[in-house]
Amino acid sequence: YKVIFSGIQPTGIPHLGNYVGALREWKRLQDRAGPGTKLLFCIVDMHALTSPRPAEELKKGRLEMLASLLAIGIDPKKSTIFFQSSVPAHTELQWILSCTASTGYLSRMTQWKVINHGAADILLYQTTHVPVGDDQRQHVEFTRECATNFNHAYKMRCLIPPNTMSTISRRIMSLTDPLKKMSKSDLSGKTRISIIDTPDQITRKINRVRTDNFPTIQYDPINRPGAANLIRIMAAFDPKGRTVDQLGEEMTGKKYSELKDVVTPLVIDGLAGLSERYEHFISDPEKLLDIARAGGVVARAMADETMRQVRELVGTTPV
Ligand code: ATP
Ligand code: MG
Repeated sequence: YKVIFSGIQPTGIPHLGNYVGALREWKRLQDRAGPGTKLLFCIVDMHALTSPRPAEELKKGRLEMLASLLAIGIDPKKSTIFFQSSVPAHTELQWILSCTASTGYLSRMTQWKVINHGAADILLYQTTHVPVGDDQRQHVEFTRECATNFNHAYKMRCLIPPNTMSTISRRIMSLTDPLKKMSKSDLSGKTRISIIDTPDQITRKINRVRTDNFPTIQYDPINRPGAANLIRIMAAFDPKGRTVDQLGEEMTGKKYSELKDVVTPLVIDGLAGLSERYEHFISDPEKLLDIARAGGVVARAMADETMRQVRELVGTTPV
């Protein structure tokens, strides 16, 4: 059996990086899943509290994320889609884990609170596999460490150290600064292509991509990060499935404008239909809430099963 768990923050409409680095992979995993596989996709609203915003904005952000996942094809009949806040055990397990986490590792982690919380999310569902983008590999590594430390402290294989499922696509960088990753929370919308951008918006944004100070293309991520990012985007949507290296070779010597002209239609085709499906789902908030509620019921039942064992093991069984 397999339990696949992954999460996304409700901090805005997903962008190209989220799509090729995570969400498209979620959909593929769902479509390939056999009867022994459970899939859980969590909209991590509790994490989003680390950058406080008005409550109404977070409530809206959760629905926008849910509508985005449905537009991508995550199907509530096949996958459990839920809000993190629907499962209070996330915070209980986080506390328990923080007590056995190795302080050496924690102090090396800059955002340790957030990452530690991420570990509880994953371990709560006896997760075996975590598909995440390249920027979150170390979170899964840390989660494994949390599980191992806990099991060691209580001399029982209770929590399952999960495996990272690598997505083929690498990290997609900002359109205006190829040294920064593309992010939902970046204040400027010019830094990213949203999955619901129109073909016109996509064309304009790609035309304005910050390029390197070279007249022609070469795949050289260190010295020409702008070209490398465009080539990575090209590879993510290449109908022939060619690698970044193959495409880099193919584009060598071409002008930046030629590369942009190749990338633009690939992205437009790659995201075709998403904005229409998004509009369809976002127009029915009651239905979205029903889906989130139903997902919460399933997730809570799975979490309860894990917590029953954990509480028994540490001695906090409710009386
Ligand atoms: P925020 O800025 O709010 O953190 P984000 O864009 O980083 O937003 P997350 O919700 O943190 O998105 O992450 C969701 C998923 O998308 C994760 O699996 C993460 O690895 C992946 N991801 C995020 N940014 C990128 C990127 N630029 N390229 C590839 N994958 C990415
Ligand atoms: Mg992030």
